[in-house]
Amino acid sequence: AGVLDTAATVSWIRAIGAVIAEQEQHLTTLDRTIGDGDHGANMRRGFAAVTEKLDGEFADPEEVLKTVATTLISTVGGASGPLYGTAFLKGSMAVKGRAELDGAGVAAFIRGAADGVKARGKAEAGDKTMVDAWLPAAEAAEAAAADGADAQAVLSAAAAAARKGAEETEPIVARKGRASYLGERAIGHRDPGAESTAFILGAAE
Ligand code: ADP
Ligand code: MG
Ligand code: MG
Repeated sequence: AGVLDTAATVSWIRAIGAVIAEQEQHLTTLDRTIGDGDHGANMRRGFAAVTEKLDGEFADPEEVLKTVATTLISTVGGASGPLYGTAFLKGSMAVKGRAELDGAGVAAFIRGAADGVKARGKAEAGDKTMVDAWLPAAEAAEAAAADGADAQAVLSAAAAAARKGAEETEPIVARKGRASYLGERAIGHRDPGAESTAFILGAAE
């Protein structure tokens, strides 16, 4: 879609729910390796609850995204619940008042989300967390939007950057989250939250 209006925003969130359900086992496996093995179940439970809310009426994309935020906060738990809740909340605030999201609107959402996660988790780039997917995604989204990319193309650029960011969590040690307890033993393993962020941003493809 050239722009994400309210209905297209709902469709994107539905697509996220489907991808997360599909990837539950994969996310669980990653988290079993360097965490406590619940990331797949946490995300599946959260987005299943979100999907149920999508049958309601929404005034604009902001309201859709805010509903995602509050639902994730109340259903996910763990580290990732408040972090993804904050991502969607800050992202929704960044697109307040827009009836539809063009490329610049999508980039504003992703930037708001990325900065929100970073602030909430107090993580920096290179700490081996979902921030390593969100920050390059925001940069890529802004660059694509500045080049005139439409909503879909901005999401694609963000997704590609998030996937690369998730891959780049493999060779490093973690400085935040459960994986930080493992020290050097986390080396060689991908961060589950960075991986789920890449799926979220790539769900519309
Ligand atoms: P928990 O670790 O409580 O079991 P999850 O398994 O659902 O929660 O989520 C783990 C993910 O949360 C990690 O892979 C990482 O991406 C992210 N995470 C954990 N702590 C932080 C933090 N302080 N800042 C950013 N992301 C974090
Ligand atoms: Mg976990
Ligand atoms: Mg846990």
